[in-house]
Amino acid sequence: SIRAPATKKTTTLTVAVKCRPLTERERGRDIVRVHNAKEVLVLDPDLSKDYLERVQNRTKERRYTFDYAFGPNCSNLDVYERSIRSTIFGVVQGLNATIFAYGSTGSGKTYTMVGTQDDPGLMVLSLNTIFHLIEKDNSSDVFEVTCSYLEVYNEVIYDLLEKSSGHLELREDPDQGIVVAGLRSIKVNSADKILELLNLGNSRRKTESTEVNETSSRSHAVLEISVTRKQQKEYPNQVIRGKLALVDLAGSERASETNSGGQKLRDGANINRSLLALANCINALGKQRKKGLAYVPYRNSKLTRILKDGLSGNSQTIMIATISPADNQYHHTVNTLKYADRAK
Ligand code: ADP
Ligand code: MG
Repeated sequence: SIRAPATKKTTTLTVAVKCRPLTERERGRDIVRVHNAKEVLVLDPDLSKDYLERVQNRTKERRYTFDYAFGPNCSNLDVYERSIRSTIFGVVQGLNATIFAYGSTGSGKTYTMVGTQDDPGLMVLSLNTIFHLIEKDNSSDVFEVTCSYLEVYNEVIYDLLEKSSGHLELREDPDQGIVVAGLRSIKVNSADKILELLNLGNSRRKTESTEVNETSSRSHAVLEISVTRKQQKEYPNQVIRGKLALVDLAGSERASETNSGGQKLRDGANINRSLLALANCINALGKQRKKGLAYVPYRNSKLTRILKDGLSGNSQTIMIATISPADNQYHHTVNTLKYADRAK
């Protein structure tokens, strides 16, 4: 039997904004420009201090407030410790959670979610905490941790843990809810090898040839970590399962045009259906929290169907809105901030 943890009805949404540092390439480019330009916004040596503030001043937009705001000097660990860690405790107790990185291509979504050896991302850090908590757990419960890693590209699901995955279908399972039929799920015993596995999976993501230097901008990658806890003593054979979905979303630039005016998002031929559907679900969840309206349109895309458990009921949802400090990304930055602001 699967016991659902005590239910409170609302899904909580936390919004964090993360501004990445300039890349080497951007620095090079901008150093050239500073000799010609009177004012170059992105060359302030102390970007972390008031970058966002200056964006507001330049556009005369109102000031936005988020649950967290991380500047270019913040590591993934900083983001994790402050905005994510406490949610992971819940997952080990049987709660569901979804963490997603939203932002335009090149804003730092993959860096934030996957990271590097020196600055491991939220996927790696979350798994670390899960194993740490299991190790510390002094009940006689038996734990099992499994991971799957999939991609949604053009509304088709692929397995990123398989070398050449075919199309996978969604099924409604009476016990487990929505499942991806045939998706590989691997048992993991530590966070050690996960970065390798994620990088290998990412190398399989569909890239888009029309966009120079920008890979995977249309595909969503979902790492699902499932923590199953089998009780031994008090309620033998009782199983509690917490699911954590960590999502590296497709570039938001495609959604932002319909998105920024505040009107209801429309579906368009060249606009990423899953991204729009997610945005609509997030908006609906916001209304639900504020006004008690119930209907959330999960069924409109593959991504939202996959994420349903982690976006409904007593789940915790955390959105990391990633932005670039570069001046040529200005419009994307403003759109992302507006989007993140509306999600609250
Ligand atoms: P996205 O996945 O949103 O398209 P990436 O994560 O690939 O963007 O980031 C774009 C570039 O910026 C990459 O070269 C990446 O290494 C770099 N980058 C992003 N965030 C950081 C950071 N916090 N520190 C250093 N480099 C970063
Ligand atoms: Mg990426």
